[in-house]
Amino acid sequence: MPLPLSLNHINVWALEDGDTWTVVDTGMQTAETAAAWQTAFSSALRGRPVGRVICTHMHPDHIGMAGWLTRRFDCQLGITRLEYVTCRMLVADTGREAPADAVRFYRAAGWGEEALEDYKARFGGFGKHIHALPDSFRRISDGDEIEVSGRIWRAVIGRGHSPEHLCLHCPQLALMISGDQVLPRITSNVSVFPTEPQADPLADWLASIIEVGRRVPEDVLVLPSHNEPFRGLHARLGELSAWHEGLLDRLRDALGQPKRAIDVFDVMFRRRVGLSLLTLATGEALAHLNRLISRRQATREIDAQGIAWYRAA
Ligand SMILES: [Zn+2]
Repeated sequence: MPLPLSLNHINVWALEDGDTWTVVDTGMQTAETAAAWQTAFSSALRGRPVGRVICTHMHPDHIGMAGWLTRRFDCQLGITRLEYVTCRMLVADTGREAPADAVRFYRAAGWGEEALEDYKARFGGFGKHIHALPDSFRRISDGDEIEVSGRIWRAVIGRGHSPEHLCLHCPQLALMISGDQVLPRITSNVSVFPTEPQADPLADWLASIIEVGRRVPEDVLVLPSHNEPFRGLHARLGELSAWHEGLLDRLRDALGQPKRAIDVFDVMFRRRVGLSLLTLATGEALAHLNRLISRRQATREIDAQGIAWYRAA
């Protein structure tokens, strides 16, 4: 499905399920995605109805068309409970003004007035790319077995990119639908957001890398949400873990002098961070800084202006 971003596509999957299809992930709510689905119904899906929609997690490119599909085919959404509830929470921000807590959070990270004004203007955009969510759902929990055409797909939950991200592993077909939990070419965003400033999502992320590797064997073909299917799950998990550990080392070395979150972008990113990437870059920087604090390798001090300064412990 097309995406109006520099990452220009998301992969969605249709599993043949008797006379219907189980669809995994749905695309962002845009006119282009609706048109692509219309084409798929009559071509790839051969005119058969969608019998069930499953979403790996609640980001708009994955869940955006879930309500559109479930209403159109009068079928149910399967998703983990935390993804469903968190999505409802974020969609409810649409139309609200940016809360003072969030402005304080980004000011503490070192943002200037221009960036804060831009954030306030854009606040509440999450819901724009999500069709009205289904008002009920079927909960999928870690370890659940979902039967599709007589084959079992086992739920493997990962955390850190989103709160309760679903991966599906089918031992019989040696396939794993990995969502954004394991991607072949890019690293998934792991971010701290204003609703939980002291969160340590990188701890969850690193633990999930170990957990996925423990539970899903090396022989699977991995079906990721972005870029091509690939083999070599365990090697990729090892690369992801090493990449974050390398970043943490470089970051700790850079904190000999006290720094704000925005001052560590040079250490962390090759690209220059402009306004459009500022929220994600700040979230990622804080995820790594909070991890160093949890490991007692860094400390944070708030100055009289409310700015947070980090230094190596
Ligand atoms: Zn995502």
